[in-house]
Amino acid sequence: MISREELRRLAEFECRLPNELAVTFYFQPGTPKDKSHREEAIEAKELVRKTLQELEVNGRSREIISDLQRILRLAESLHGNQARAKAVFACSCRKLWSEFDVPAFAAQTRLFVNRRFHLKPLAPLFSEHPHLWVAVVDRHSARFVDVYFDQVNAQSSIENSISRRGRSDGYAGYDAGHAQRHSEDEVRRYFRNVAEFLKSAAERKQFEALVIGCHDLNWPEFERQLHPDVQKKIIGRFSEDLGALSDEKAAAEANRILRQSLEQHHTSLLRETLDQARSNGRGVTGLRRVLRALELGEIDTILMSLNYSARAVECSHCRHLDSHLVPYCSVCGRSTRQLDDVCEALVRTTLKNSIALVLMPPDDSLDRVGNIAALLRFRADRNTNHLLAAS
Ligand SMILES: [Zn+2]
Repeated sequence: MISREELRRLAEFECRLPNELAVTFYFQPGTPKDKSHREEAIEAKELVRKTLQELEVNGRSREIISDLQRILRLAESLHGNQARAKAVFACSCRKLWSEFDVPAFAAQTRLFVNRRFHLKPLAPLFSEHPHLWVAVVDRHSARFVDVYFDQVNAQSSIENSISRRGRSDGYAGYDAGHAQRHSEDEVRRYFRNVAEFLKSAAERKQFEALVIGCHDLNWPEFERQLHPDVQKKIIGRFSEDLGALSDEKAAAEANRILRQSLEQHHTSLLRETLDQARSNGRGVTGLRRVLRALELGEIDTILMSLNYSARAVECSHCRHLDSHLVPYCSVCGRSTRQLDDVCEALVRTTLKNSIALVLMPPDDSLDRVGNIAALLRFRADRNTNHLLAAS
């Protein structure tokens, strides 16, 4: 898996000489069940071949051709049961070749040849993948599964001591009533132990988000025992048959809940941003205003539609970005160069400055404001008095 640091390092990369080119290749295999899997590999090869031909016709340098030939050989080896999606970043002029496994949803088989690497599909990766734990809890035992991207690791488990003794008391004999109460106390004590374990795991930052697998009947009793800090991290619960549930199935449930919760979060983030923009508060819309806010260091989160792309110019000297395609920089007066897609510069800045980037599915309200908006941390043009007056 690619790491946050590697992603940042790739974002810093930029070709300096006119002859240099940065190649980005994403390969998305079909699922093992998917019959079109072979076709995916063939498609990938075709894609590289076509680009190779175009570049050869245009008389491009030997280095870029050799990068693409190497990617072609890789694509050719990707048939069979290649389960993982891949990303390759190459620039042989600068002796750079990096190959990573990436989560399947981030990739779509694509090839980009540009001055920077195409990192947009990977930019939201880390903010959308918190360290996730699933706690599967019934009246007899609790187990904890760590889910991080597609890695699933069982953590420790806790057993109800009464289950360990065989649960014989309370189910037979004339003292059944007493044993029943005794057993209820045991369950409460056991739930408390589980809650205590989760609290200390949260304190040690072993998870950032928590999904609970717990039957509806047990949930209220268990929930009461949970510390508020643990409750805050819960993003959802499921309650299917927990006894037969494998760790992988629990992880799949947790990932489903995570995606749902992210979707809801993004929708409300968008609504908040647009409301804030309408009232001239902590929100801006449209590329021009987003670029301005970015340069002022105001931005908390950029929201753009998944396929957003726009031309812009970038100052070759001070890096000022302008949505108007002006030949000279409005800040320092030096010459600008045109960017086919402003996202390549935007993504670099978001990664460098730890600004969250949310790629939204098609949305009418975002479309109406130009498919890009940003939620701000503050507004630089407002002094403290204004802020106080507004609050
Ligand atoms: Zn400039």
